[in-house]
Amino acid sequence: MTDKTHQEMLRKYAEAIVKVGLNIRAGQRLIINNMAVRGVPHQFAPLVREVAKAAYGAGAKYVEVIWGDEEMMRLRAQHAPRDSFDEYPTHMVDAVMGMINNGDALLSIAGTNPDLLGGLDPEIVGMMQTRHLNAASKISERVTTNAINWCVVAAAGEEWAKKIFPDLSVEKAQEKLWQAIFETTRIDQPDPIAAWEKHILFLRERARYLQSKQFTALHYTAPGTDFTLGLPSGHQWISAQSMAQNGVAFTANMPTEEVFTLPDRNRADGVVSSTFPLSYGGTLIEDFQVTFENGRIVKVNAKKGEAALQKLVDTDEGSHRLGEVALVPASSPIAKRGHLFYSTLFDENASCHIAIGRAYRFTLTGGEELNDEEFIAAGGNVSLNHVDFMIGSPQMDIDGVHKDGTHEPVMRQGEWAFKL
Ligand code: ZN
Ligand code: ZN
Repeated sequence: MTDKTHQEMLRKYAEAIVKVGLNIRAGQRLIINNMAVRGVPHQFAPLVREVAKAAYGAGAKYVEVIWGDEEMMRLRAQHAPRDSFDEYPTHMVDAVMGMINNGDALLSIAGTNPDLLGGLDPEIVGMMQTRHLNAASKISERVTTNAINWCVVAAAGEEWAKKIFPDLSVEKAQEKLWQAIFETTRIDQPDPIAAWEKHILFLRERARYLQSKQFTALHYTAPGTDFTLGLPSGHQWISAQSMAQNGVAFTANMPTEEVFTLPDRNRADGVVSSTFPLSYGGTLIEDFQVTFENGRIVKVNAKKGEAALQKLVDTDEGSHRLGEVALVPASSPIAKRGHLFYSTLFDENASCHIAIGRAYRFTLTGGEELNDEEFIAAGGNVSLNHVDFMIGSPQMDIDGVHKDGTHEPVMRQGEWAFKL
């Protein structure tokens, strides 16, 4: 790709981010950030500047960027005094909270080094992460209840690209990753905005169909999988577009291929086999099975990384149970690429998946108003974790189960089985 073509693709990507992802309103302000490394790395500046141009073009009043530096996190862990990791300047959190309280839009740009904190003292890394998660929890709370229009997108960071394509040079790896980003976010199509409108409608129709069916359970069959998962009453099927409390319809993830809801934390029975490796806490867990009884994980086994998987499950009571069920066709454009991205934004959109741990409040009608006990009583799950793992394949059949016990096809051989 020539520099000129790349710049033009960035421009189209930025336009889709502003119009489809954030759906910026005239007069709104925009804040651009990366929470994981406390600011957007300078290597993403070309994309940031295109987004700023597109945002002003759409009538944004002001665009603020919180810049960061990945290396600063690493060198702090290596060099700062051991008793200093409780230090946490709050200006970044205050800035983001100030803008959220003002009803501004929030863009997060992912794509930093997935191994940034690899090989460091796990205790120090743990202290840094815990301090950060605690300080930033008020932001996550406002964002996950859709207080404002927000969006997460990716940029092809150097180290991330090298992680996915280790055999290529940095330049070639980044070029290949940008191509993957542009294709999976439909930016390579003649009219990306129209392509997104069609895609959002496609997903919404499927979510509406599933909603109208009011299934009480889903039954999964595939090689190594025979599994029934209950759906609580009041479950809401969600897809690409959401409505923010500030009244703006936005698309929180680009790409997105999933239609999802919450399972009943007390109703999962049988065995489910993974179809992709799971990257968790720096370990790759491969070829694993999870066995459930009455919603609870009673056994895990894995060809590789079994100890890491058991550790994840043993985090708390909620991580013995499920918090998300998502349907994604096996022909998803992300699955077709045939490799892991080491990024949930991409990997969870490659396949049907379920998540160990916490359920999203907005997947249950009225869920945002419930406290933990009430949410649990309604079938929702509460945990420190939310870890998606992939179970879909072209061999998978899924039936919807009605209250009277009758079944009807939802997916056959990994694809949607109903016509609308
Ligand atoms: Zn998901
Ligand atoms: Zn998830």
